Amino acid sequence: MRPTPAASLLLMLPAALLAAGCARQPGESVAATADGPLGVVATTGMVADLVREVGGDAVEVTQIMGAGVDPHLYKATRDDVQTILDADAVFYSGLMLEGKMADTLVKVGRSRPVYAVTELIDESKLLEPDDAAGHPDPHVWMDVGAWSACVDAVAEALSELRPDRAEAFAKRADAYAARLAELDQYVRRVVASVPAERRVLVTSHDAFNYFGRAYEIEVLGVQGLSTESEAGLRRVNELVSLLVTREAPAVFVESSVSPKNIQALVDGAASRGHAVKIGGELFSDAMGAAGTYEGTYVGMIDHNATTVARALGGDAPPGGMSGALAGAEEEAAR
Ligand code: ZN
Repeated sequence: MRPTPAASLLLMLPAALLAAGCARQPGESVAATADGPLGVVATTGMVADLVREVGGDAVEVTQIMGAGVDPHLYKATRDDVQTILDADAVFYSGLMLEGKMADTLVKVGRSRPVYAVTELIDESKLLEPDDAAGHPDPHVWMDVGAWSACVDAVAEALSELRPDRAEAFAKRADAYAARLAELDQYVRRVVASVPAERRVLVTSHDAFNYFGRAYEIEVLGVQGLSTESEAGLRRVNELVSLLVTREAPAVFVESSVSPKNIQALVDGAASRGHAVKIGGELFSDAMGAAGTYEGTYVGMIDHNATTVARALGGDAPPGGMSGALAGAEEEAAR
């Protein structure tokens, strides 16, 4: 495993958090004293799943944002703040994804360890779109390879909190990284099976730039990087023209964003004589329902890749990488 000194994890935290005084003196222990599982709070489902995978039964993860919740707009409730204050440690995605929770995270950082899982991703792997004013695109989980860098980061952080379980965390991290490598290969394969001229992914907001870069598919969103921005009529018209010109067969809605902009594209294309269908619902910034395969990171990405490939004329099994997708049952029932 890549050695990452515990101190560097903290150094990678946003300056605001450090300024708030969460940096600890060398040698100061943060190890939990109790023998029971570590109480961890995670913001998004993707982060919660990552901590669960690496932590196993040594952690008890409380996830703040459930299925269908938009992290760009989510504000911590009074209950969330209490949950966070009761936790042994807090994990969040970072890169300004949880824009409205920043103050809460800074406040909590004064009294307990707070980790941004994306902060250890090599900067060269981050996308910095022209219109983002120098901020990296936060949607890194869409590139399975880049997201894998967070696995070690979480193992290091948990080991810092529970040194006695470090070996187990390292082992689980390695096994999970191997599974992600398999997922990465699957996504690459099915996206590549879409005919080149149809390899264009149109969605509600710019959540898929990393997906596009990693798996070589052109990606366009109606809204920008954050769902806070309004979709302009001009953008809608641009995309309609592109759909018509490219004869794109499908566009996609996102589970955490209103479908109205995507419907506007479908209607716009229809008024110009081109039928484009909604190819399915993708999980962009939130995973599927808790307790389902789509409610895990692997299931979410498997669902996205399989849905996109099939709707755009590629070759992917309805059940996805391992036959676990809900689509397999629907297909069988037909
Ligand atoms: Zn987003």
